[in-house]
Amino acid sequence: MDVRCFTVGAFEVNAYLITDPATGAAAIVDTGESDELALALAAEKPDIRMILLTHAHLDHAGALARLQQDWRVPTYLCTQERPLFETLPIQGTMFGMPQLNRPCGRIDHWIEDGFSVQLGETTLRFLATPGHTPGQGCWHDDTDILVGDTLFAGSIGRTDFPMSVPAQMVESLRRLTQLPGALRVWSGHGPMTTLARELETNPFLGYIRRERGIQGPPGMRWAPGT
Ligand SMILES: [Zn+2]
Repeated sequence: MDVRCFTVGAFEVNAYLITDPATGAAAIVDTGESDELALALAAEKPDIRMILLTHAHLDHAGALARLQQDWRVPTYLCTQERPLFETLPIQGTMFGMPQLNRPCGRIDHWIEDGFSVQLGETTLRFLATPGHTPGQGCWHDDTDILVGDTLFAGSIGRTDFPMSVPAQMVESLRRLTQLPGALRVWSGHGPMTTLARELETNPFLGYIRRERGIQGPPGMRWAPGT
């Protein structure tokens, strides 16, 4: 797939426009919470077929209702994310920023781990990676993976939020790093990386290196089992 990154909003979140090169069919992955992505896309008029969410924190899903005004396309989110999604109208208040409260928008397809959807000639697969949030997940094809706040270059998503479960994150990172190392990793914040690079260098993945006999720094203990 072709991947374009738009860094938007108060949290400098990475929203993405992904495109199937054979057909031009495109999808939005995460929205930001501002109107920046909507304005950028309105100027370009790509052939958007769907909106995919990695998780329902306001910086990733807060502009969904705004984007759905312009793009009447189906939206997909993991079933386990529903309780967090429904807090969007008060999530800003929960984080001390009531000016960032947002309407929920509409989810057309509540999905599960292993779900796949066709974007032109590209098959997009959903890998559930709970831990940062209950329904956090990653969208990928054979070359690229959009991971939301599961994994960052040199770091991982926070696991100290109200609905976070560190033990789930420990297991989700094991599953994520079973995918091919050459996959380009597009995170919810910060620069692009690859799974191989993170597996070899990320200080939060030391426990996986030990389990698999991979050379690299010992890393830090950040949850039981790491
Ligand atoms: Zn998040």
